[in-house]
Amino acid sequence: MKRREFLQKSAAATLSALGLLLKHYVLASPALLRSAEAESGAQLFALQKALNSSDALLLLPSDGQYVNYQNAFNLRTALSPQARVMVRTPRGLAQLIQWLRRTKVPFAIRGGGHSYEGFSQSERIVIDTRLMNSIELAPSKQSVFIGGGAALGDVYSALGPKGITIPAGSCPPVGVSGHVQGGGFGEFARPFGLACDSLLSVDLVNADGVEITASETENSDLFWAIRGGGGGSFGVATRYQFRTHAVSELTSFGVTWLLRGERALDACKDWQKWIATAPDFVTSFLRIDVSHSQNVTLHAAGLGLCSEAKLQAELQKITREKPNHQRLEPMNIVQAVHHFAGGNAYQSVHMKAKSDYLYEPLSDDGIRALFAGLQKHQGITATMDGYGGAIAKVAPTATAFAHRKALCCIQYSTSFEPEKTEASLASMKEFYDGLRGYMSGECYVNYPDLDLKNYAAAYWGENLARLKQIKASVDPTNFFQHAQSIPIG
Ligand SMILES: Cc1cc2nc3c(=O)[nH]c(=O)nc-3n(C[C@H](O)[C@H](O)[C@H](O)COP(=O)(O)OP(=O)(O)OC[C@H]3O[C@@H](n4cnc5c(N)ncnc54)[C@H](O)[C@@H]3O)c2cc1C
Repeated sequence: MKRREFLQKSAAATLSALGLLLKHYVLASPALLRSAEAESGAQLFALQKALNSSDALLLLPSDGQYVNYQNAFNLRTALSPQARVMVRTPRGLAQLIQWLRRTKVPFAIRGGGHSYEGFSQSERIVIDTRLMNSIELAPSKQSVFIGGGAALGDVYSALGPKGITIPAGSCPPVGVSGHVQGGGFGEFARPFGLACDSLLSVDLVNADGVEITASETENSDLFWAIRGGGGGSFGVATRYQFRTHAVSELTSFGVTWLLRGERALDACKDWQKWIATAPDFVTSFLRIDVSHSQNVTLHAAGLGLCSEAKLQAELQKITREKPNHQRLEPMNIVQAVHHFAGGNAYQSVHMKAKSDYLYEPLSDDGIRALFAGLQKHQGITATMDGYGGAIAKVAPTATAFAHRKALCCIQYSTSFEPEKTEASLASMKEFYDGLRGYMSGECYVNYPDLDLKNYAAAYWGENLARLKQIKASVDPTNFFQHAQSIPIG
C-alpha cells in the first residue's frame, strides 16, 4: 500500500483513539488533532514498512480482515485498537517490540481474549498472538510444543484422539497463554495438577525484543514467575513445551440436590469436607444457585480417572442427602471437553466476576451469608473449584502460584444486558462485600477484578516479593504492563 493511501486509511481509525487520548488534557483544536493524527498514521506506516508480511500482518479498522479478529469474551471491556498486529513469527514480534519501545505507543498482548477485565484490549496497538498456534507432539508423545496463541480447544482436539492431554480449563476458546501463566485449573487438576505444573519450558520475546527460553535450567527465575504470575508482565510468549498425560479410563459425573435451609447448608458443608479428603483421581466443582424463594440448587460435577463403579462408590460419600438428579457417564477426553464446554463456539457477554480462596470449609455463618447474598442478588452464581490432590503436592513457593494449600477457589460471576451494567456491578460489589468477614482475602489472578484495592497481595501472597524482584530484573522499565500487572520491586 502506498504511503498516502495508508495515511488516509489510518486517519479515520486514529481520529477517535487520539481524540479520546487528548480530550483529557487539552481542548484539541482541529489543527492539533490533524497533526497528531498524521504523526500517528506516519508511525503506523513506518511500522508496516518495518514488518515483513510473512512475519506479521498489520490490520487497520478499514481492513476487511480486522473485524474477524475483534471478538473478546467480555464485551464490557472490549476496545477497538488503532491497529492490530497479527504476529506470525518470533522475528516479527521482536521487530514489533523494538518499534513499540522506540515510539512508546501503548499496547496490549492478546492470546485467547478471555481476560475478565480486558487486559488484552487496547485502543492503540494490540500484539495479537493467535496466528502462532501450531501444536506439535514430540515423537515420544510425552511432551507437546504449543504456539503462544493457541486456544485450549486446539490442544484438546490435537491430543485427545491420541488418549493424552494437558491438565487445563474446560473452555475451548480460552487462550493457553493467559491460562497457564495464571496457573490454570481444570477437571484433571487433582490427578495431574494445574496447567502450569506440566509446563516444561516457554519461549518468549522479552522487553529488549530478544527471543529467550525459560525453563528449570535456563532463566529459571523467570520460569518460576511465569507459572502463576499472570499474563502480560514479562514478555510475549511464542511457544510452550508441556508434559502430556495419558488418560485410559475416564468417567464424568453430575449430581444435583435441590434443598432448603439447614439441609442445604449441611450439604454444602459436606461437599467441602468431602473434597478435602477425596482421592486424587476425582476432580470436582460445586455450583450454587439460590432462587428468590430460597430454594438452593447444589450441583457437584467433574471427572474421575476411574471406572463408573469406582466413581459411584466415591460420590456416595459426598453427603447423606439423596440427590434429585445424578448422572455418571464413561467418556473419552474429546467427549469430556465437549461435555464441560457445552460447545466450541466463542461466546461474548457483558460480565463481571470475582473470586475468593478458602483454606477451611466455610463456617455455617459464612454459608448462610453466601446463600442470603445469592438469594438477594439474583443472577450471580457461585462455583467452588475443589483443590487438593496434585495441586497441593507442589509447595506454595515452588512456583509463583501461591494458593497451593487452598481447599477451593470460589468464583462469583454474573452476565447482563449492557444497559444493566451499572446496576449489575453495584449488585456484585454489595454481594462480595457481604462475604468479606468469612474469606481468606486471597483471589485468583485468572479471575481478575479491578475492584481489588490490593490486588498484588491478593493474587500472589507470599510470592509477591520475589515476583517484584524478578520483574525488576527482567523488565526494569516496566515495558510490559496492564492495570494489574506485577509491580516493579
Ligand atoms: C469462559 C471462560 C472460562 C474459563 N474457565 C477457566 C477454567 O476452567 N479454569 C481456569 O483456571 N481459568 C478459567 N478461565 C479464566 C482464564 O484462565 C483467564 O481468563 C485467562 O487469562 C485467559 O487467557 P486468554 O489468553 O484467553 O486471555 P487474554 O485476554 O488474551 O489474556 C489474558 C492475559 O494474558 C496476557 N497474554 C495473553 N497472551 C499472552 C502471550 N502470548 N504472552 C504473554 N502474555 C499474554 C494478556 O496480556 C492478559 O494480561 C475462564 C475464563 C473464561 C472467560
